[in-house]
Amino acid sequence: MRRILVVEDETSIREMIALNLRMKNMEVLEAESAEAALALLDTNPACDVAILDVMLPGMNGFSLCENIRRTDNAIGIIILSAKSQETDKIRGLSIGADDYMTKPFSVSELMARVEALCRRVARSAGETAETGRLVSGEFVLDENSHMLLKNGRQIDLTQVEFQIMELFFKNPGTALVREKILKGVWGENYFGDVKIVDVNIRRLRMKIEDEPSNPKHILTVWGYGYRWN
Ligand code: CA
Repeated sequence: MRRILVVEDETSIREMIALNLRMKNMEVLEAESAEAALALLDTNPACDVAILDVMLPGMNGFSLCENIRRTDNAIGIIILSAKSQETDKIRGLSIGADDYMTKPFSVSELMARVEALCRRVARSAGETAETGRLVSGEFVLDENSHMLLKNGRQIDLTQVEFQIMELFFKNPGTALVREKILKGVWGENYFGDVKIVDVNIRRLRMKIEDEPSNPKHILTVWGYGYRWN
């Protein structure tokens, strides 16, 4: 059963969200403050998704999001905010939220997003790899959610980094010439320099290798390109 944390100080909104989640057959943990939410997270089995209001008494939703992310990369986080400014949205997403909704929101849309996020957060017991998942050693690349997991830990990738990984996963052990990576990711009509491939590979190594200077997964094929190991 999916377990969802709802953090919202306005009782009517919190109860309305909780009711709708329970109607979807999900287990709901309700908290009216960030502090109460952290206590709940400490004493309960891991949640699949957390819905966090921003304006809360005490610690706000952004800080709560950062707090949760410090110890839990797997949980899906939806920020709920009265602020519709783009900077808030960007802030929310940059501190580790997966999704962002502005109040007033449609409950059915929120439910749809929770369900979508639940599908991406593959942590419930007994869950098996589904289609759209490329597995390579300790890595799982989820083509539906555009996430890379290393030993179950989520690694955030940009769109371009994701596409490079996709190319690697589909051609394991194959030396890929840099021009092929460039065309595969940036498109046939991209006339930029192949150096952009190197820049992105360097960044990918920082994210996925234990020792970026001594890569074990993205290997350099001198004078040619790269190979996924
Ligand atoms: Ca509030």
